[in-house]
Amino acid sequence: MYKPTIAVVGRPNVGKSTLFNRIIGERKAIVEDTPGVTRDRLYASGDWLNHEFNVIDTGGIEIKDEPFQEQIKMQAEIAILEADVILMITNGREGVTEDDLFVARILQKSKKPVVLAVNKIDNFEMRNEIYEFYNLGLGDPFPVSGSHGLGLGDVLDQAVEHFKSLEEEVEADDSIRVSLIGRPNVGKSSLVNAILGEERVIVSDIAGTTRDAIDTEYFYDDEHYTLVDTAGMRKRGKVYEATEKYSVLRANRAIERSDVVLVVLNGEEGIIEQDKRIAGLAHEAGRAVIIVVNKWDAVEKDDKTMKKFEDKIRREFQFLDYAPITFVSALNKSRLATLFPLIKLANDSHKKRVQSSTLNEVLVDSVSMNPTPTDKGRRLNIFYGTQVSVAPPTFVLFVNDVDLMHFSYRRYLENQMRKAFDFTGTPIHILSRKRN
Ligand code: GDP
Ligand code: GDP
Repeated sequence: MYKPTIAVVGRPNVGKSTLFNRIIGERKAIVEDTPGVTRDRLYASGDWLNHEFNVIDTGGIEIKDEPFQEQIKMQAEIAILEADVILMITNGREGVTEDDLFVARILQKSKKPVVLAVNKIDNFEMRNEIYEFYNLGLGDPFPVSGSHGLGLGDVLDQAVEHFKSLEEEVEADDSIRVSLIGRPNVGKSSLVNAILGEERVIVSDIAGTTRDAIDTEYFYDDEHYTLVDTAGMRKRGKVYEATEKYSVLRANRAIERSDVVLVVLNGEEGIIEQDKRIAGLAHEAGRAVIIVVNKWDAVEKDDKTMKKFEDKIRREFQFLDYAPITFVSALNKSRLATLFPLIKLANDSHKKRVQSSTLNEVLVDSVSMNPTPTDKGRRLNIFYGTQVSVAPPTFVLFVNDVDLMHFSYRRYLENQMRKAFDFTGTPIHILSRKRN
């Protein structure tokens, strides 16, 4: 299921964080009276009428030492690049300001749908204040009150209306969706170009919808792929890139839209904390993951270098022990051919279904080799297991008592299942339920 993104934009102090909190339903962002204070949370999920979506508070993204107009310009541009629907917030108590007009002009130039909310309309009598906002040229203004929680339903109805067709489009897409994530300068853009430039890759020229303009379809070995966010990767401004918050936000968004995620590392510089954080996002989202060490050309090597680097990755990214590792150079276009089969393999694992009968044979064998744990004289009893979903493969084990399923035993079962069914490249989830 595709999860669209709504970006909240507007000048400081109009109530972006307050509305953001209302939309996500929890008080995650920190609301301050001081205009332009840095906020903790800028990416969260919300839902409305059975539609799940992500919300970005662009007010939380800042470049230090840039003039005010540059900041709001950047925020509007990020919203245009990263969101499916833009929610522009204005302040009904102050009327239309120069800065509102400035933001509106940037938004008008994009093709992204905009929903215009006039905030701080705390009571019915104030509704007349909204009419002057027609001057922004962004369609009908909707009165809302962030502090009283009024009017948001109409705004979200409007947003959902805009992303319905997108959801349908993505659901109808049967290609394998691949994204590249990683901190700035690891070589993501270079890799995208190298992949699309490979001899056997056939780039599709299907007439573009809005999404195709961002993504690129290609065929390899008769398999249909979509490289997510190619356009953005190619032309995005490096200024924004440099802020860590933005690169995390962008990674999140790419992950959300893909089946297989290539976590790109810089072989020349090694692994830093930010790499782990970004890789962690792919893992948490339950996507198939491949670790790609780029710039391998720039590394001085002997016959042990690759093994040593691999060991280091395994130590630093223990949570990604299922992810295959490959070493490439986008610059020399060397070893790129290793990528294609891995993407296919990881995707197959991610969508693999195993039969209940085979699964239960594996479970019985595993238990006989290594008996289930006991606690205070009670032994864990596994009655039956079944796969309940794919992408990632998720299993439910029916047991006598879920508290007896210790982490280490679940880990053991996971390893046994991985040995029996190749799940290279994908996380698998094992849940236990009490059988009544
Ligand atoms: P941001 O800078 O755009 O994110 O704005 P904030 O969400 O931090 O809100 C700025 C100020 O406006 C805070 O003092 C809020 O309490 C106040 N505020 C937000 N929404 C409303 C509203 O609907 N009515 C009124 N009266 N005040 C609001
Ligand atoms: P991105 O920010 O992750 O998209 O990284 P870019 O693709 O823009 O690359 C950042 C820099 O690394 C550029 O100067 C590239 O020329 C360089 N670069 C990319 N791939 C390689 C590689 O395989 N080897 C070497 N030596 N440099 C590379």
